[in-house]
Amino acid sequence: MPADFWDTHAHLHDERFAADLPVVLERARQSALQGIIEVAVDVQTSHEAVRLARERRGFVWAAVGIHPHNAAALAPDGSWLKELARLAKEDETVAIGEIGLDFYRNLAPREAQAAAFRAQLRLAGELGKPAIIHSRAALAEVLALFAEEGTGVRAVLHCFSGDESALRQAIGLGLYVSFAGPLTFPNANALRSLAAQTPGDRLLLETDSPYMAPEPYRGRRNEPAYVRFVAEALARARGVSLEEISAQTCRNVESFFAFPG
Ligand SMILES: [Zn+2]
Ligand SMILES: [Zn+2]
Repeated sequence: MPADFWDTHAHLHDERFAADLPVVLERARQSALQGIIEVAVDVQTSHEAVRLARERRGFVWAAVGIHPHNAAALAPDGSWLKELARLAKEDETVAIGEIGLDFYRNLAPREAQAAAFRAQLRLAGELGKPAIIHSRAALAEVLALFAEEGTGVRAVLHCFSGDESALRQAIGLGLYVSFAGPLTFPNANALRSLAAQTPGDRLLLETDSPYMAPEPYRGRRNEPAYVRFVAEALARARGVSLEEISAQTCRNVESFFAFPG
């Protein structure tokens, strides 16, 4: 029997899926995906995520939030946060995300990124929804801010790329850790060793489609069906069967995301 997986982080709103999204979703089903979390990056894609989750009920679920790249465009009156809160209360919305800090590309001023991250972590806490955290060249700052604002918030570091001490700190803060395509890259031995050290009940799998395509599709458009390659790399890294990775990560999806009762 083929093993089942979840893609816990995809951007199906990306224009690269505009022409063939139904085909992409069908391939995901054929590849034994149990579900996909469609992750928004601004207010508009948050609306789109909820809409898509409604159309594909039970297969696609929504995460609503403002990516740090888009933190500079937010109205100072906070109307965006009210809009997000409204969308976050929908049944289809199982997480707040993606939120966080990106000091690599610095597309928004750092203070604006931090303010948006803080406000959305609070929202997650108020609504009892988990948070999907993006961190690039900012892991120490992300962990410090989470330690301040994230009390009681279930959260995942998506597309983890930190070192061993950051991993230990994240686990100590109660965070989940999600691995993506880079786990399959030939030169990623250090990352695979961290994936092997991560406690089993904190592991999630994702594609970050259309970005981060795993081997053997590296450099091409990524899609949810390819989460299997990440799962295979994780199984090899941990020295366990693919079935065990499937069972463990599906259990973690159930305990992490806020599915409607
Ligand atoms: Zn991200
Ligand atoms: Zn993403």
